[in-house]
Order: sequence, then C-alpha cells, then structure tokens
Amino acid sequence: MGKNRFIKITVVIVLIASIAFLFTFCLHKDKKIPKLVVGIVVDQMAYDFIPRYWDKYSENGFKRLIKYGFFCKNTKLVHFPSYTAPGHSSIYTGSVPSVNGIVGNDWFDKKKEKVVYCTDDDTCHTIGSFSNEGNMSPSSLLSPTITDQLALTNNYKSKIIGIALKDRGAIFPAGHIGSSAYWYDETSKKWISSSYYMNKLPYWVEEFNNKNLPDKYLSRPWYTFLPIESYSESTNDDNEFEEVYKGEERPVFPHNLPELKYKDMHLFRTTPFGNSITKDFAVDAIKNENLGKNEFTDFLCISFSSTDYVGHKFGPNSIETEDTYLRVDLDIAEILEYLDNNIGLQNYLVFLTADHGVCSNPEYLKRNGYSAGTFFTKVILDSVNTYLERTYNKNNLALYFFNQQIYLNDELIKENGLNSNDIAKNTAFYIKNGIEGIENVWTSEDLKNGISNEYYFRYFKNGYYEERCGDVFVNFKQYWIEDKIKGAEHGGPYSYDIHIPLIWYGCGINKGESSEPVEMIDIAPTLSKLLNIPYPKDCLGKPIKEIINK
Ligand SMILES: [Zn+2]
Repeated sequence: MGKNRFIKITVVIVLIASIAFLFTFCLHKDKKIPKLVVGIVVDQMAYDFIPRYWDKYSENGFKRLIKYGFFCKNTKLVHFPSYTAPGHSSIYTGSVPSVNGIVGNDWFDKKKEKVVYCTDDDTCHTIGSFSNEGNMSPSSLLSPTITDQLALTNNYKSKIIGIALKDRGAIFPAGHIGSSAYWYDETSKKWISSSYYMNKLPYWVEEFNNKNLPDKYLSRPWYTFLPIESYSESTNDDNEFEEVYKGEERPVFPHNLPELKYKDMHLFRTTPFGNSITKDFAVDAIKNENLGKNEFTDFLCISFSSTDYVGHKFGPNSIETEDTYLRVDLDIAEILEYLDNNIGLQNYLVFLTADHGVCSNPEYLKRNGYSAGTFFTKVILDSVNTYLERTYNKNNLALYFFNQQIYLNDELIKENGLNSNDIAKNTAFYIKNGIEGIENVWTSEDLKNGISNEYYFRYFKNGYYEERCGDVFVNFKQYWIEDKIKGAEHGGPYSYDIHIPLIWYGCGINKGESSEPVEMIDIAPTLSKLLNIPYPKDCLGKPIKEIINK
C-alpha cells in the first residue's frame, strides 16, 4: 500500500470515529432527565389484577399507563418472604434481604435478643402526634436506596419524599438521606413523621391534618362503585371465606362505615378510602413542596397500603377487593392528571409496581378442588418442641416460629452442651416428614453453604441474613398459608405471591410491552440509567434493556 493511500485511509477512519463519538455524545447530552420521578407501589397487587379487572378500569389510570407506557409483564420478586418491608426494600435498593437485612416486617434480632419491628428506632420520636407511631427510621435497612443515590449524586439538591399509610411503605423507599417520609397514625388520625427527618411538620401537613379527611371519608356507607351485579370477576358478596368488620354480621355491601367507625379503630385503612387519602396527601405534597419545579430531579415515593389491608380481610376473590382496585385506579388517574397539568408529561416519569402478590383463601381453594390449608404457627412450634424434648430430653429448645423460620434457643443449647447444627438438622427432618403441607425445609447451614438443586432454594438463600434469621426455614406447599382461616395471606415464593405488575410511563419511556423475565431488583438500576446516576451500592439487578435501549 502506498504511503499516501495509507494516510488517506487513516484520515477517513479518524473522521468516521470522531463523527460517531460526537453523535453519541450529543445523543447522550440530549437524553432527557425527568424533573420528577413518581414511584407508585400498590401493596399486594398481584399481576393478575391487571387482566382480571381490565374491562372495568377507567381509561385514565392503569389503562393509560399500560397503553401509552411500557409494560414489563413478567416481573417477579427473587426473595423470600414476600412481605411489605422486604418488597419495598428490594424495589428501592435493587438488592435482596440477604444483603439489605430486611428479612421480614418483624424478626428476632439475635444481637438485641428481642423481636424487633423493621422500622422501630428508640432514638427517634414522633413528629405530629403524641403517639409512639413515629419512633421510627430506616436504620435497619443496611443498603442505600436509589433515592439515596440520587441525593448523593445531586449533592442533596433533590427533594425526596416517601408517603404511605404504612410507616414501612414510606420509610424504606425514601431512603436514609431522604428529605422526608410521612405515614398515617391511626390513634390521632393524622399524617405524622419522625425526628429522624424533621423537628416539626411543615405547615401544609398541619393544614392537611386539620381538614379531618378520615372522618369525611367515613361519613358515607361504602357502596360498590359500579352496580354490584356487574362484579362478575368476584365471588358472591355473601360468603364464608371473608372476614367481617367489627360490628358487622355479614361481609356484605353496603358497609355502614359511619356506624362501624365507632367499633373498629383500624376501619379506615381497611377501606379503599385509605388509598384516596394517600392520593390527596401525595398531590398536596407535590403542590406544596414544589416537586418537579427545580433544576434537580425530585423523587416522590407513594405506596397504596389499603389494597393490602382490604385484601387480607376479604381476599383476592371478593367484591371488596375488586371495588378497591377500581377505586385506586381512579386515585392513580387523579395523580396523573395533576402531574399533566402542573409538571407536564414530558417532565415526569412514573413507575408502578407492587411489593408482593397474594394467595387466595385456602378454604375457598379447597372448595374448588385444590389441595390447600392453614398452618397455625403455635401448633408447629409446640409440635417441634414436643419432638425435640423426646429426642434431647429438654423442654423449649425452639423459641419462636417467625417468618416461616424456627429460631432455636441458643442459650439453652449452650448451657446443656448440645450441638445446634445437629438440633437444626433433626428439626428440619421432623418438619419435612412429620407435618402435612410442607414443600421444603432447609437449615441455616444449608442456606449459608448455598448448595441445593431444589427450585425454591434461591428465594430462601436471598432471604437469609444471619443475625436476623432463624435456624430452620420452612417452605409451605403452594396454597398453604399461616394463621388465617378467613381472608387472605402472602409470603411464599409461588407465582401468585411473586408475580407483580411493572409499568413505566412518561419522560424517556417508549410505548410497548414485553414478556421477557424481569426481576424486582432490576427496577433500581433501570432508574439509575434513566436518571444517569450510579447504581445504588448493593444493587444486584441489571437495567431492563427494553427500557434503556430506545
Ligand atoms: Zn400484607
């Protein structure tokens, strides 16, 4: 090759490379970053609730998000147990309980030697009422959240707010350096916070509380939104599988809330109006905190808790649950409308998902020919202790049955020179072979060593954090639940408990849908990519390629 020709080719290559670089750079520079991210978690929303009630949803809530956004139809949790606190923690940290430490809503803390609630923090006090409901913080969450990462990247210029009736649904999403989190105090009927975040409530929260909305929402009976005969997706209203409100004879519409509110202090949260007040409060937060109006991206984390409370009481096959979804759909539509009018569609990003799903009532399932049942944790614990006493001649060797785990009595075992591994193995063998309705049993040693070909092992391994977990883990058979005859429960690794909706909508999102497998831990890194910030430190997931490769 002649020298001149070589130089010409080199110049062309350098030119092409420079153009390609500039093109990528410009594209990158033009990538639009939302001014406001709104994360919506619908507590206990199994994937099934989208197709099942589809024809009855409005055009402006779930349907709008799905028709004009991107729907990841095959999104699943990858941890056990499928409860609220681990779910919210996994969504926002991109990690699992074995890393972030949130192994349940409560757990026995071996260091503290007591049962602890996931957000309890004695060093904090309530802001906004005289109750103890605000002695809380995210200090048990050992991993940073996507919201922490956003604050860190923007040198704390982003406003981050967590809102939910449930403290844990507000606190974990808002992260450790979140501007604030608010939740609902049933004793005072007010939205409160913790001294972890602030010294006094902002003026707008005081004003909101002064409106007495809970009483207003409970001043009318709960009638179904549509004529009751059109709820063909649910069982008959009057049946024996549902719990009743305190003071009610049968679980039927209309529920006389004005009368029942004097009989049950938990009434409000177990109605769809617990979601409506969450929507009211969220809209007030956007307005009064000027979210989405600043140079840096703000982040609002909303969790609708009443879908879970209603779901536990009446179950996923009830008209009450169906009506609650039709109403939360309208609450979501109202939030979207507010965002359109005040932030502008091009400036906000919404993602909607759930912390876990739910299992149908086992008695209802049995009636329909399924093999199903209920365990009573006390009965399991007593039967394990009887077995261990026969084997080791010592009483009360098992202390707790909590989060489907047996916690052995370490002190008693030590005092008597017994071998805890040996006791754990024997306990596992006994539960597997001596109790009906058990799928798998693993000891903590099994989970630590990480060897098993059993399919559900991965979920339990992801749920194991040594200082907070027990010694023997029990995976019930599908459709078996804990301590409930009426209503419904969740917690297992089966698809009804772990298959959740995931929808992306707004700034930077193209319309579409995919049935490719997505894991709950993929949500946080996808947000990182959309916001152009690093992944949260312990993030184990990967960005969803259909969302980021536009
Ligand atoms: Zn629940």
